[in-house]
Amino acid sequence: MTQAVTVLGATGSIGRSTLDVISRHPDKYSVYALTASSSVDDMRELVLQHAPRFAVMANEQAADDLRTALPENVSTEVLGGAQALVEVASAPEVDQVMAAIVGAAGLLPTLAAAEAGKRVLLANKESLVMAGPLFMQAIRDGGATLLPIDSEHNAIFQSMPHDYDGDLAAKGIRKILLTASGGPFRGQSASELTGVTPAQAVAHPNWSMGAKISVDSATLMNKGLELIEACFLFHCDADDVQVVVHPQSVIHSMVQYCDGSVLAQLGQPDMRTPIAYGMAWPERIDAGVESLDLFDIGTLNFEAPDIENFPCLRLACDAFAAGGTMPAVLNAANEIAVDAFLQEQIRFTDIPIMIEQVMRQHTVTPAESLECILEADAWARCTATAMIGEDFA
Ligand code: NAD
Ligand code: MG
Repeated sequence: MTQAVTVLGATGSIGRSTLDVISRHPDKYSVYALTASSSVDDMRELVLQHAPRFAVMANEQAADDLRTALPENVSTEVLGGAQALVEVASAPEVDQVMAAIVGAAGLLPTLAAAEAGKRVLLANKESLVMAGPLFMQAIRDGGATLLPIDSEHNAIFQSMPHDYDGDLAAKGIRKILLTASGGPFRGQSASELTGVTPAQAVAHPNWSMGAKISVDSATLMNKGLELIEACFLFHCDADDVQVVVHPQSVIHSMVQYCDGSVLAQLGQPDMRTPIAYGMAWPERIDAGVESLDLFDIGTLNFEAPDIENFPCLRLACDAFAAGGTMPAVLNAANEIAVDAFLQEQIRFTDIPIMIEQVMRQHTVTPAESLECILEADAWARCTATAMIGEDFA
């Protein structure tokens, strides 16, 4: 019997890497459903290649267009809309769900997979940032298995004791060392950063990724979101996590123990490694990734993050410390700011200013229900959108 997999965000960077791993192991995995937002041509190609039982387009019009675009002999059923995403993430036939939708749009289907007790392969860090306590509770209540796919968290998971139960001290762990590449603008001054273009920001030096996470990597917001993600995943405080800039992206993160040991996971900057690890855990399977050539790499460097010129990391720490609805507000304001930057409506250096202003205006409430979180998310989007066109200087 194969494991049936739903890939949420199948047309994206993580989605395609997941399908590459699946297609290497037809004896182990089969595709149950593929989902995307609105890119009909990309989804058509994936349906013809992988013959899923369902193809879901979040956009209903795109679902209609896909039905028309597919040849008549294709048996894949095409569905449309947000509820269909939830259905294919929680259907009884599904064993594993790759959560690889970008942004807050991933929250509801990922939560549904958790509640339905699936193996949840979590790439969509934004859903955990927005709704950490609720999400982790849903994992426990649903009897789900949560495997981190974000390369750093996957590396931390691999470097931790296999029976880690949420108590760092009990396992002799002193610190989690969360590595960061520093992004394409590492070492640049505030004035140099003002003029950077979207094309420069999405050109990550080591990883090939979707546009939003590439900009997040350039602002260091990605590391901020990842710090929050680590705290929820590993049940620790922000003080237990040290961000370490490591420009080569060879070490994907580390765990420091009380006896002086540091365990690390190293590998190529290729997401198929953490994806294959998450899918096969506790076993290992071929991911199609070459081994590292350490002689070729030669040197590994480490430095402290530059919080002065890249304030997004600090904003994320502040949001996590404030707790409640604030991380959801941080995330939503960031999504609006990044989108506005990509559309050349605001400057790169306006991104943190906009987020900070939205956070300042927010009155934190406990994030005890999904409704509270979605309300805070919607409020932050509205507030941030209203700022576009203002002079941030
Ligand atoms: P991407 O932009 O390449 O792909 C995003 C996918 O989400 C696409 O399939 C798109 O159709 C779908 N999508 C977008 N908006 C949607 C909506 N409103 N409703 C439904 N579907 C929607 O993004 P990516 O780089 O693959 O990243 C996906 C997630 O994985 C993000 O949360 C990112 O932070 C995380 N992640 C990515 C990488 C990476 O290497 N790319 C690494 C670690 C974590
Ligand atoms: Mg990462």
